[in-house]
Amino acid sequence: MSTIMQQYIDEAEKALLHTYNRYQVVFERGDGVYLYDLEGKRYLDFVSGIAVFALGYHNREYDDALKAQIDKITHTSNYYYNVPAIEAAKKLKEISGMDRVFFTNSGAEAVEGAIKTARKYAYLKDGGTDHEIIAMNHSFHGRTMGALSVTGNPHYREAFEPMIGNIRFAQLNDFDSVLAQVTDKTCAILFETVQGEGGIYPATEDFLRKVRKFCDERDILMILDEIQCGMGRTGTMFAWQRFGVKPDVMTTAKALGCGVPVGAFLMTEKVGAHSLVAGDHGTTYGGNPLACAAVCKVIELFEKQRILDNVNAVSAYLSDHLERLVEEFDCVKTHRGVGLLQGLVFDQPVGDIIAKAMEKGLVLVNAGSDVIRFVPSLVITQENVDTMITILRESIREASPLSTRERFTEGERK
Ligand SMILES: *Cc1c(COP(=O)(O)O)cnc(C)c1O
Repeated sequence: MSTIMQQYIDEAEKALLHTYNRYQVVFERGDGVYLYDLEGKRYLDFVSGIAVFALGYHNREYDDALKAQIDKITHTSNYYYNVPAIEAAKKLKEISGMDRVFFTNSGAEAVEGAIKTARKYAYLKDGGTDHEIIAMNHSFHGRTMGALSVTGNPHYREAFEPMIGNIRFAQLNDFDSVLAQVTDKTCAILFETVQGEGGIYPATEDFLRKVRKFCDERDILMILDEIQCGMGRTGTMFAWQRFGVKPDVMTTAKALGCGVPVGAFLMTEKVGAHSLVAGDHGTTYGGNPLACAAVCKVIELFEKQRILDNVNAVSAYLSDHLERLVEEFDCVKTHRGVGLLQGLVFDQPVGDIIAKAMEKGLVLVNAGSDVIRFVPSLVITQENVDTMITILRESIREASPLSTRERFTEGERK
């Protein structure tokens, strides 16, 4: 490694709080599906800032839109209207079919808003302040206290107890386990349409339909977290649209701004009319003109560049090739996922494989200790998939040499 890169890393370790185990690399710029480090080394990126850069790096039209907005104004206040926020809300309504939008600065903040919406909705119905939310085991909803409280991973929560109260956990795709947690205080059922951090587990159509029906019968809110799986990643703008099972409240972030920090929670008119009102919720930066100019351009470019078509074409190709790795390697147990949100499940921790791939110029990320997650930019090509698979195959061989099925023929070859 160059001394300059090492110097920056050393300085980082002195100045930044040690909350991340970072790879020993400093990225300087991006172009399309490639990242470049300080030494100018090029990496094929199958992480895209963790499902953020849907349009790839350095999209000219996107960059120009942001620059133009910077020259006008980047922040006013939510005490006033601004055109980019109005346009972005209109576009978000169109692509989601939801009716009301609240812009946030992050995913976790969108989840916080969704939780407050559910509590307020229930409060207006019966005046109670002890309502319960059912969330799922292995879920991930963010690191702020409310979002953490509905995150179904005790390891993330333990040191920070007590959480916000009245959260119960069920098992994704096990409707009976949800029913077992229902009480007359239940005000919402919350889950990711495809669990991301928890290991790439898609909700089944059957589960979505049962939850939807049950929520309708009881006037309970169905909240879907689409922060990672939304914005085209699974081949429809939002993952629930594949099944036409519409939530009452939905969260989005990550690829929504393609690199500018922005999120949103959205709701139907019914929920909007019976939940948060003036004074209930707010944010200084949420919905600022710069972030919203990004949202407008992102949604516009999704249509113009036919992003969904590319996702559907390339993801089938990616699935196919990941499936071959399952057959080829003993250490690869299975593969699961939807669209360009795929996971390869190993029988061992994947850290070494990811590190090997990094050396070879391929950026990958895990989801849990034994799953490699594929969340590339949505503009990747079949050729990019070929390159990725070649490097991944080499990396698996080198990191766990005894794991290929070839080992059974080792003797014959000698
Ligand atoms: C990343 C993520 C969040 C949190 O978003 P931040 O912007 O990191 O706060 C919440 N839910 C899901 C499903 C996510 O993937």
